Amino acid sequence: MRRTKIVATLGPATSNESAMRELLAAGVNVVRVNFSHGTSDDHRASVATVRKIAEEQGAVVGILGDLQGPKIRVSNFLEGSVQLKKGQTFTLDIDHDDEAGTNEVVGCVYRELPDDLQIGSVLVLDDGRIVLEVTGLNGGKIKTTVVVGGKLSNRKGINLRGGGLSAPAITDKDREDLKVAAELDIDYLGVSFPRDAADIHHARKLLLEAGCDAAIVAKIERAEAVEAIDEILEATDVIMVARGDLGVEIGDPQLPAVQKSLINKARSANKVVITATQMMESMVTSPIPTRAEVFDVANAVLDGTDAVMLSAETAVGAYPERAVTAMSRICEEAEKEPKVMESAHRLHSEFAAIDESIAMATMYTANHLDVKAIGALTETGSTALWMSRISSGIPIYAVTTNPATQTRVTLYRGVYPVPFEKRLESSYEANQAVVEMLVGQQKVDDGDLVIITKGDMFGVASGTNSMKIVRVGDWTEEQ
Ligand code: PGA
Ligand code: MN
Repeated sequence: MRRTKIVATLGPATSNESAMRELLAAGVNVVRVNFSHGTSDDHRASVATVRKIAEEQGAVVGILGDLQGPKIRVSNFLEGSVQLKKGQTFTLDIDHDDEAGTNEVVGCVYRELPDDLQIGSVLVLDDGRIVLEVTGLNGGKIKTTVVVGGKLSNRKGINLRGGGLSAPAITDKDREDLKVAAELDIDYLGVSFPRDAADIHHARKLLLEAGCDAAIVAKIERAEAVEAIDEILEATDVIMVARGDLGVEIGDPQLPAVQKSLINKARSANKVVITATQMMESMVTSPIPTRAEVFDVANAVLDGTDAVMLSAETAVGAYPERAVTAMSRICEEAEKEPKVMESAHRLHSEFAAIDESIAMATMYTANHLDVKAIGALTETGSTALWMSRISSGIPIYAVTTNPATQTRVTLYRGVYPVPFEKRLESSYEANQAVVEMLVGQQKVDDGDLVIITKGDMFGVASGTNSMKIVRVGDWTEEQ
């Protein structure tokens, strides 16, 4: 059973029902609806289809709505694209006609861009393919020399090497998309290009005002965000190692070390982490991954990521379902490495709450006794989250009546949602119900040890105060 979760981005390749059916059947845990592309009605339709198919398949699938954020882009060219040569001059002009770019000048709708630059600033376009050095600033005109040339086409992205673009994380478009996300009652909201904790607090405030308490995913894709990671972790629920834009800003050789550090920091702060972008990129056009991609996915699993993400592979690729199955197999194999089942996490730290202490005691026991499964009766999923911060090979079943919790825990490594409808009257009944369910789903067998955690009152948040070890089959009234 795979512990690492798979996030798949929807797009033209996966928007029709049969493609989505195959995609979900391949084992996707969370789908990403990308507000950078498509209309609100497209997103409404996709989310409805995902939910319908998940129900059909008896699967629990989370939904991540990802805001576009202040992605800065060149405007359009007269001919759709131009060819830039090394050494030539090229001007970005905020007052230039947005449809009339040429080989010499192109427009840009981000009017503050000249204010964020100095002579010598390096602009990186189209995810690193084109590099420009600023040689002159004159009002709205940014004069540059082409350092790395190539084909530049309509609406390609612009990043500033080293960071420092002043654009606020939430744009007017994001505010509108955020309302659609709230209306769709998504589980996770992706905030693109946050600079600091204030951007995360702001997004959460807008989301709550729109009536939605989705968890926030802070996409770490600006140089500033790496610097501010400690305060961002405090403010957010999840981070994404957004390697596409981040690599362009900080330089790609820095990425592997930053990925490891971000994953470590997230887990230590009891937060969740997604590793994203170009994980299986060659599968956009090829039915099998490259060896380097196999290693990349496996290494993210060894680093301790909760989830790995597919972008173009499932949004526009020729083999979306194969990308998921290949990724899934790589994760499962990497998880067999003994190191990823051990943990010294928080052995020397103090715990702040009773439910947190029960979660830690459970994992310590599970990793040292021959336990087959953990059944955590949970209202908000927080017990399961604490448990999943401890590396382990033991499955954590989040048994919950709360539908929002069922879909939220889809992202946590090693946690499996177990929807539950029965009203529980007593602790005895709860133990029995959990064990019966795990036996019924063939997760455990006679003689297996199971740890059950719960509170005295069922359906109450933060109430977990006990852990019980039961042996399946040894059932007596006293239990
Ligand atoms: P994006 O974010 O796919 O929305 O650009 C991820 C990244 O930049 O890596
Ligand atoms: Mn990005």
